[in-house]
Amino acid sequence: MRVCKFGGTSMADSESIKKVVEIVRRDASRKYIVASAPGKRDKADVKITDALYDCYAALDGGDFDSAFDSITQRFMSITEGLSLDLDICAILDEVKASILKERSRDFTASRGEYLSALLLSKALGATFVDVAGLIKFKESGELLLDESLALIRSRLEGVERAVLPGFYGSLPDGKIKTFSRGGSDISGAIVASAVGADAYENWTDVDGFLSADPRVVKSPKLIDYLSYNELRELSYMGAEVLHPEAIYPVRRAGIPIHIKNTFHPSAAGTTIVANARHMSDFGVITGVAGKKGFSIINIEKEMMNSEIGFARRVLSVFESEGICFEHMPSGIDTLSVVVRDEYLSGKLPSLIAALWRATEADSIEVQSGLSLIATVGHNMASHQGTAAKIFKALAERHINVRMIDQGSSELNIIVGVDTFDYEKAIRAIYEQFCQNESEI
Ligand code: ADP
Ligand code: ASP
Ligand code: MG
Repeated sequence: MRVCKFGGTSMADSESIKKVVEIVRRDASRKYIVASAPGKRDKADVKITDALYDCYAALDGGDFDSAFDSITQRFMSITEGLSLDLDICAILDEVKASILKERSRDFTASRGEYLSALLLSKALGATFVDVAGLIKFKESGELLLDESLALIRSRLEGVERAVLPGFYGSLPDGKIKTFSRGGSDISGAIVASAVGADAYENWTDVDGFLSADPRVVKSPKLIDYLSYNELRELSYMGAEVLHPEAIYPVRRAGIPIHIKNTFHPSAAGTTIVANARHMSDFGVITGVAGKKGFSIINIEKEMMNSEIGFARRVLSVFESEGICFEHMPSGIDTLSVVVRDEYLSGKLPSLIAALWRATEADSIEVQSGLSLIATVGHNMASHQGTAAKIFKALAERHINVRMIDQGSSELNIIVGVDTFDYEKAIRAIYEQFCQNESEI
């Protein structure tokens, strides 16, 4: 028995939804389906989730009616295209009224998945199962995984085929809460774990997990097998094909993930399991991924290395300011903290002031415009010269490396480069290992 999650591009319009229906109907083991909100139909299009965030913004003195029009148009055209016997106007009126009543950002955004799953259930002749009462969060926003698994398991017992909306659940007071963007991948993983599926199929618009972002590297090699840990590293570092938090529920239950292409279902896709090394003819590296939008805070103080508690004082400032950090490279008298720009937004002046107070440093400076690039692979630990190859590739293209970090698992090597070098650096590393086909 399999749980399938269909992403935004798979649900974008009636033509793609027909492909979804065909895929599900082709195999009786595809019993539980998790749907995303309709995504982009072409590059210039707007995802329904983004259009809903615009609706929410318009609640505050904007033109809500015309913002909601784009939602109406999209779902009406899907209903028509699929010839569904459904009073979509009445359903949309109800959704519009509930958004106006709730006035909640998360509730508004969740309606994309709600409507999408409702229409897909009709198209499939399957049961629509709302997740509002099944996926539970604590007041703090933390997922209550065990409670959610038990609720879903008991609700789906005996249900032949069901469609569930992705992306959201509810807080203890019943209010809707969404996961972070791309969160339908997590919903699918939770459902797969709850019903003890044999596989979690994640259907998207690429043939599988690629060894680099296809928008940066032309035709990157497809990864046929990947371990949960490699997936976690690559998706956390920007390979957004799967949400980085989606692995936890399935890894715990030992359920393999299959990444499949809705628009090319015969392609084998990527299989993600606990230990992929024995299953594939692995090269030295498995993949490269990266992210823009980081800053580095450099703290310098003479004799820092002999000052007991220095790092603790620095980190407790980050804790009290409510900011998480990514990396903390250090020298003898310097300590740097790498932070995502979005976490610093509006907080930088008070963070710096608090760091001065706590450390009495000689200098504190902030450099923005940093991008991080991770080269990932289990096999790096058993091959010499991997780091040398990465740095050679970057040096040959005159790319300045501003930070280096290697985890103790030797699963990845992370470098920080100037954001204007980001694409060039990813291509350089990819090509370095790609020149010799067996190395990737
Ligand atoms: P969905 O709407 O199905 O959830 P996403 O847009 O979230 O799909 O993820 C799929 C997209 O991820 C692909 O279209 C591709 O552009 C992008 N992507 C980035 N890095 C990778 C990678 N390493 N492998 C595959 N796709 C990637
Ligand atoms: N629709 C949501 C988003 O665009 C969730 C998802 O597609 O996974 O982020
Ligand atoms: Mg996605």
